[in-house]
Amino acid sequence: MSTRLSNSQPLPKTEPTSIASQVAEARLRLAAVGIESAGLEARLLIGHLLCMDGAGMIAHGDRALSVEQVAAIRNLIGQRAAGRPIAYLLGGREFWSLPLRVDERCLIPRPETELLVERALERLPDRRARAIDLGTGSGAIILALVAERPQLEGWGSDASADALAVAADNAKRLDLTVHWFRGHWLEAVAQRPLFDTIVSNPPYVDPSDPHLEHGDLRFEPRAALVAGGGGLNDLATIAGQSRACLRPGGWLLLEHGHNQGPAVRTLLKQQGFLKVSSHRDPAGHERVTEGGCPG
Ligand code: GLN
Repeated sequence: MSTRLSNSQPLPKTEPTSIASQVAEARLRLAAVGIESAGLEARLLIGHLLCMDGAGMIAHGDRALSVEQVAAIRNLIGQRAAGRPIAYLLGGREFWSLPLRVDERCLIPRPETELLVERALERLPDRRARAIDLGTGSGAIILALVAERPQLEGWGSDASADALAVAADNAKRLDLTVHWFRGHWLEAVAQRPLFDTIVSNPPYVDPSDPHLEHGDLRFEPRAALVAGGGGLNDLATIAGQSRACLRPGGWLLLEHGHNQGPAVRTLLKQQGFLKVSSHRDPAGHERVTEGGCPG
């Protein structure tokens, strides 16, 4: 087998086809491209391929792998070294303790988006309620809400049929019920009954933001990340459409960029929302802004 490493790290001196040396080789290769948790990622990726957990890989560290297995490992590690997000390579990401499947058809759920779930749970009425997640992607937000509130009537919409397929698959595997609609924001559901809560993590990154050229963002669907108007266009559209689709006393909750809090508060106030406030994520950034519909 003549697969070559693309960098010049020396190979470990043990049997190169053992699990332990493949992990060591992978760790060096990932560390060489600046991946911080190179050892952890090497174990996760190799464990994923071999269907083994960390303890199993340690216990069987000297087990020899086949030529095909070594080639598959080097290919997977090569993809990670080239920047492909680990969530896509593993095919999953945990969000709100739910094991979600994700791939290139949807955004990778972020830990800071759990703040949106927390705030929505705070605002949902105790009675049987109806909530919709706009631009649902993997379904992360609405699936978390339905998992927390089994009585909730959950709806999710997305303009991307691909993303909706991921969301519907996640719902099925988690045995959670959500009504899925294809369309831009509230267009698909405008003639429907009113909602108690509207949540959204829409695209809000400015197209000229240099972060788009770094890390996972390079591989995620651009349409799920980027919005015109300095990143505010979709937030403004949703704010504009939501009043007509909310029950009196209902709530709109939006995730946004770390410096967009003031602009989003203004958007909600312009639309007549009351009790408008922003909430900080664990990093201390204003990340979610919410407003109530006049009762
Ligand atoms: N929070 C994402 C980021 O890392 C962006 C997600 C979005 O645009 N909704 O920038």
